Amino acid sequence: MGDRVPVVEGKSNPGGKRLVIAIDGPAGSGKSTLAALLARKYNYINIETGAMYRVLAFKAIEHGIPLEDGAKLAALAQQSRIELVPRPEGNRVLLDGADVTERLRSQEVTDAASKVSVHPLVREWMVDSQRKMGAGGGIVMEGRDIGTKVFPDAEVKIFLDAAPEIRGTRRFLENPASAAHEASVVAELHARDQRDRTRANSPLAPAPDAVLIDSTYLTLDQVLARAVELIDARLSRIQRSEMQA
Ligand code: C5P
Repeated sequence: MGDRVPVVEGKSNPGGKRLVIAIDGPAGSGKSTLAALLARKYNYINIETGAMYRVLAFKAIEHGIPLEDGAKLAALAQQSRIELVPRPEGNRVLLDGADVTERLRSQEVTDAASKVSVHPLVREWMVDSQRKMGAGGGIVMEGRDIGTKVFPDAEVKIFLDAAPEIRGTRRFLENPASAAHEASVVAELHARDQRDRTRANSPLAPAPDAVLIDSTYLTLDQVLARAVELIDARLSRIQRSEMQA
């Protein structure tokens, strides 16, 4: 992964330090939307790590690999070429050169992604790839373990959360035309949450130094404003210490 993720110059801090912005949180908390808006504002690369777990789950289903077999799944990941291609309307996801973006949001793949993500060997491969992708900075990376595991030294860490019933409803409203009932979307989201929070390896949890944003009663604009405030404060602190050095 990585060769399709171009390095671009920042707008807001030209010539200055390009940060790693880590956004973690449960499903339906609004991470992807926030990450995409921040990436656009700062001209950073947006890396949705959930898409990487989804694409591996998709390939495992296609190849009939059991979702319980961590060693086979990790071997499959190693043989795969996963690429994120930035587009104004959102990243496209390529698997071995083919665009599979539309196929990653199905209930089957969503559920399988949270099952493949429990395996330590799979996570090791993912974390390693994600560190390589973000090594140059200038990225907004969102997922479950970015601030705790992938980039524990990220300059900005946000943990985005919202009340479970709000997250379930938001997720349902993202795709109201689907045949799924709201109750089943909500139930699936809770089951996935539970799996993500209780797994032994890198469970979903805020990093001790993450700033919590609870979006239950906030509009998207308010969440964005809070995140921008944090990032700009961090950039100013860095600029000040660079000037003093
Ligand atoms: O974020 P998204 O809903 O696309 O993630 C799909 C699944 O991938 C999550 O439910 C979680 O189990 C897994 N995941 C993870 N660590 C990440 C990102 C996603 O375990 N950093």
